[in-house]
Amino acid sequence: MFSSQEEVFEKEKRYIMQTYKRPRIVLKSGKGALVTDFAGKEYLDCVAGIAVNAVGYSHPEVVTALKEQSSKLMHVSNLYYTEPQVKLAEKLSGLSGMHKVFFCNSGAESVEAALKLATKMTGKAGFIAAEGSFHGRTISSLSVTFGTKFRTVFEPLLLNNVKFVRYNDASAIRNAIDEDTAAVILEPIQGETGVIIPSEGYLREVKKICTEKGVLLILDEIQTGFGRTGRWFGKEHDDVEPDIMTLAKALGAGFPIGAMLAREGLEFEAGEHASTFGGSPLACTAALASIKVIETEKLVERSRELGAYFMDKARAEGLVSNPVVKEIRGKGLMIAIELTKPCAEMVDAARERGVLINCTSDNVIRLVPPLVISKEELDAVISVLRAIVK
Ligand SMILES: *Cc1c(COP(=O)(O)O)cnc(C)c1O
Repeated sequence: MFSSQEEVFEKEKRYIMQTYKRPRIVLKSGKGALVTDFAGKEYLDCVAGIAVNAVGYSHPEVVTALKEQSSKLMHVSNLYYTEPQVKLAEKLSGLSGMHKVFFCNSGAESVEAALKLATKMTGKAGFIAAEGSFHGRTISSLSVTFGTKFRTVFEPLLLNNVKFVRYNDASAIRNAIDEDTAAVILEPIQGETGVIIPSEGYLREVKKICTEKGVLLILDEIQTGFGRTGRWFGKEHDDVEPDIMTLAKALGAGFPIGAMLAREGLEFEAGEHASTFGGSPLACTAALASIKVIETEKLVERSRELGAYFMDKARAEGLVSNPVVKEIRGKGLMIAIELTKPCAEMVDAARERGVLINCTSDNVIRLVPPLVISKEELDAVISVLRAIVK
C-alpha cells in the first residue's frame, strides 16, 4: 500500500486533521494480544484499541462469523427486520438484566441516546455527572464530561444544566439533585481519568438516592463492560441495577457498535430516535461472536484471575514498592499504575521494548490488555514495566 513508514507519516500529516498525537509506528496486523508493525516488530498490546479488543486480535470465531455474514448481508438500515440484531438484543438483555436495547455505532452515541431518553421520560434536562468523568466527544456527551482540556474551546455546550460533583461521594449527589434533575450519569469505575475505583456501596447508595428523589441513574459501562473488570459489567461489583446503561468499546470485538439499554418502562416510541447504521447485521454478528468467545473461553473469570495474578506479581517483583510508583490499582484487567511523575517517556521506552501502554492522565499508565492475554505475556509486561519505571 505504501513503500515506507515515512510515506505514511507524511501523508497522514498532509491529509488527516491532526487530532491525534501518535507514536511513529504503523500497525499492520494482530493475533491474540500481539500486534505487528510495518517493520515486522511485535508488541504486546496493553492498550487493546482502548479496551476494545477483549477477545484479542483476529480471533478465528469472530473472523469466520464476519466473513460469512459479510457475504450475505452487511447493512439494510432499520427500515427492515434483521435476525442478528434481534438475537443480540435478546442476548444483551439476558446478560445485563436490562429490558430493551437501542443500537447505535459508538460510545458517545449511546450516551447521546441515554441523555435523550432520560429527558424524554422525565421532561427535564438537568444532569448530574462526576468530576473526572468521561462520556464522549459529541456536544451533549461532552456536556457531561469533566475536564477543561476536552471542553473549553466548545463552550457554551448545548446542555447547560449539568452539575459536576465529587466522584465516590453519594451525599454530594443527594445535595445536587433539584427539581430540574433528569438523571445522574456515572461510570462504575472511571476509565479515562485513570481507573478510579469507588468504595464498595457507593453505586448502591447513589441508586437509593435516585429512587428516593425520582431521578434516573445512567451507568456508563462503555469501558467497564464485557468482562474488563472481572465481571460481565461493572455494576455487578455493587449489585446495582441502573435505569439506563450504555455500552460500546468491547461489545463488537473491534467492529464499531454501541448500545443503550433501559429498564422496563423507559422507551422511545416510533420516530423518536434512530440511526442509519445502528445494529447492522454485520455489527451485531461481530458482537454475537465476541460474546460467544467471552462465554466459551470464560474470559470474565479469566479477567478476574489475571487481574489478581498481575497484582500479586507486581508486588512480588517490587513494582509496587518502586519509589516512582505511587499506587497500582485495578479490578480484573482494568489496571492503573499511578506514578509520581509524568509517564510519557515510559510509554516510549515500553514501546521500544515491545509493549504498548498509554497514559490516561499525565501520570497514570492504564493497562487494559486483551482478556485472552496469557500469564507468560503478563510476566513479560511486568518485566518491561520494571525495567522502565525508574
Ligand atoms: C470511550 C468511552 C466513551 C466514548 O466512546 P466513543 O466510542 O469514543 O464515542 C464514553 N464513555 C466511556 C466510559 C468511555 O470509556
